[in-house]
Amino acid sequence: MMKKTLFPTLLLGSALLVGCAPPAPEAKMETPLRVFETLASDAMQGRATGTAGGERAREYLKQEMKALGVFDETRAQVFAFSPPSRDDGPTIELEGTNLIGVIDAEDADKTPILIVTAHYDHLGIRDGGVIYNGADDNASGSAALFAIAESFAERPPKHDVALVWLDAEERGLSGARAFVAGDPLVQGRPVFNLNLDMVSQNERELYFSGAHHYPILKTLMEKAAKGTGLTLSFGHDRPEDGPDDWTHQSDHAAFHAVGIPFGYLGVEDHPNYHGASDTFDTIPQEFYKSSVQTIVNAAHILDTYLDTVAKPAALETSEQSSQTDSE
Ligand SMILES: [Zn+2]
Repeated sequence: MMKKTLFPTLLLGSALLVGCAPPAPEAKMETPLRVFETLASDAMQGRATGTAGGERAREYLKQEMKALGVFDETRAQVFAFSPPSRDDGPTIELEGTNLIGVIDAEDADKTPILIVTAHYDHLGIRDGGVIYNGADDNASGSAALFAIAESFAERPPKHDVALVWLDAEERGLSGARAFVAGDPLVQGRPVFNLNLDMVSQNERELYFSGAHHYPILKTLMEKAAKGTGLTLSFGHDRPEDGPDDWTHQSDHAAFHAVGIPFGYLGVEDHPNYHGASDTFDTIPQEFYKSSVQTIVNAAHILDTYLDTVAKPAALETSEQSSQTDSE
């Protein structure tokens, strides 16, 4: 049986354009694996926002970004925020820092921008001294951004691409909210957000969430996963999924809240999730390699189709979500 589709011409076009050749260069794994292991090491003390470990992680990321030498612009966005409290305790104020690296398209007239995000913060030290390393959550996605950067150095993007290491995801998606509300990259131009959060802890399956809201993404992402050795499943993006609807559970929610189209890549929940056992040595390396290749392919395909999938923020209709859960 043939599946009916709303965009037959567009889908045929995408099949013709990305069907034959690999959509992106082969992912280079050396830098991502080094960054992954380093961010998840005890030296980073679990990278909680506003702690010495968080600052150490940030300084390390800056150093790796500089060493890569592919960004036309790098900067930090510092923001103050009050994390949502889970009890009725006093309101506290924290400072967070997002790191931003921009790769400019060669054609300056190409106005849409692809913004790929991954949070680098995690839960820090808890239970009287136990380090929560946050390997899958989300050293894995933070490291994958480096593979994207290297791939665009090899095959330059057609549109501007920003890679953003977000802070304070674990504190109410506060880094993403600050970025969407205040960063000039998001203002006055079409944007697409690809968010990476927990992309390594599985044997075979990665999820793409967001195609329910933007159906054209399903065909594009099927192409991204082709030949990578993993199964890309679609879902976790319908209101009727209840707590299994991930639409509001990671940083892409801040983009979605202002009408910016998004896609999220991540694995199914697992026993190490938000546990002290989420460590680098538990990560299936072959799966991570497949996942990073899928991510790199996705970034290149989204760049190719950015004029179709990106939309400007509708800031005047932005809803202030009161959701406090996060990954
Ligand atoms: Zn988390």
